[in-house]
Amino acid sequence: MIERAEGSHLIDSDGKRYIDGVSSLWCNVHGHRHPGIDSAVNEQLDKVAHTTMLGLAHPGAAELAGRLVDLAPAGLSRVFYSESGSTATEIALKMAFQYQQQRGGQHTRRTSFVHLRDSYHGDTIGSVSVGGIDLFHSAYRPLLFNTHAAEAGDAGDLERVLAVHEEEIAAVIVEPLVQGAAGMLTHPPGYLRAVRELCDRFGVLLICDEVATGFGRTGKMFACEHEGVAPDLLCLAKGLTGGYLPLAATLATERIYEGFLGAPDQYRTFFHGHTYTGNPLACAAALASLDAFEEERTIESLQPKIELLWELLTELEAMPEVTEVRGRGVMVGIDLGEHDPALRLGHRVTLEARKHGAIIRPLGDVIVLMPPLSISEGQLRRLVEITQQSIRAASAAISPVALAQAA
Ligand SMILES: *Cc1c(COP(=O)(O)O)cnc(C)c1O
Repeated sequence: MIERAEGSHLIDSDGKRYIDGVSSLWCNVHGHRHPGIDSAVNEQLDKVAHTTMLGLAHPGAAELAGRLVDLAPAGLSRVFYSESGSTATEIALKMAFQYQQQRGGQHTRRTSFVHLRDSYHGDTIGSVSVGGIDLFHSAYRPLLFNTHAAEAGDAGDLERVLAVHEEEIAAVIVEPLVQGAAGMLTHPPGYLRAVRELCDRFGVLLICDEVATGFGRTGKMFACEHEGVAPDLLCLAKGLTGGYLPLAATLATERIYEGFLGAPDQYRTFFHGHTYTGNPLACAAALASLDAFEEERTIESLQPKIELLWELLTELEAMPEVTEVRGRGVMVGIDLGEHDPALRLGHRVTLEARKHGAIIRPLGDVIVLMPPLSISEGQLRRLVEITQQSIRAASAAISPVALAQAA
């Protein structure tokens, strides 16, 4: 039971402190109880907690949209709010589909999508349809729409899929650089650039899902920046409010926006609006988080920490219990290799880490580290140290000798 938190630490109901090693599910950016974000939310409470954005707007949402457009890759000029990563991608898919329908002519045949194998774009039916993680997704297969999968990180395979299905594809959706839920699967350099070029060549839209990679997690504000890529639709959520409140944004180009304009009786409207869309408290937190990025030079001061982290991980990767360490920036996957799933090695590692004062989470037998960008170098060292210790202890506990003794 986590009762409080402070900076990079979570504090449970017994007062025990833990390093928040996965940023409270990949979303905390500047640490917990950040004074600037705390006071921004408090100040917003003195004005209004919630007011609808259906037919109205509010200053925070308008200001935030402007700042997101300024920060995002060139050409993304319009912002549509929702509350979660799942809805941000769901909205991008619906927008891409409807945009192609409203272009008319042969484009109305563009009703399908291409996604990468082992991708994760959220838990709603549309986002699951473009997902590729069997453990999460296979139970819902009868409910899903048909899509085309391409091998992750293999531009040649994407080219092949697009060449075969060219005329029925509305958009390609990717997690740029790092496929988080797949176990921090990383793409080779140049892959994202190649994906953009293929989308242009085949006349399909590119959706970049930066729900996990956005807001500094890969070492730049957005992962797309590493390859100078601008998508047609960009999905943001997790870190958008600094990890304070549920808020998401789907950014679109002017060309896509214009595809929805027309007289009321043409019904070109994007009929999608959530009750809490663009919630003012969440927008206030997001604005304060962007202020913190500027005032604390978050991205700049992150660089030496990334260097230190990967230095520490080199040592960890040399452990006999570790098969591979993958990732980018402060997104790390420590692969413990093939084990009997019933032994739940990854889970055991995270329980062990709790004893030593760190909260981490596994994806199967891949241990994920994703600390807040604000973590100190000392805390970072401690986090890797605890992880190393916990991998050693948990691996020893599932050795044949230890299992025989336990039985
Ligand atoms: C977490 C995640 C989502 C879903 O976000 P929720 O806020 O949990 O709905 C979508 N895409 C990616 C890449 C994610 O990591």
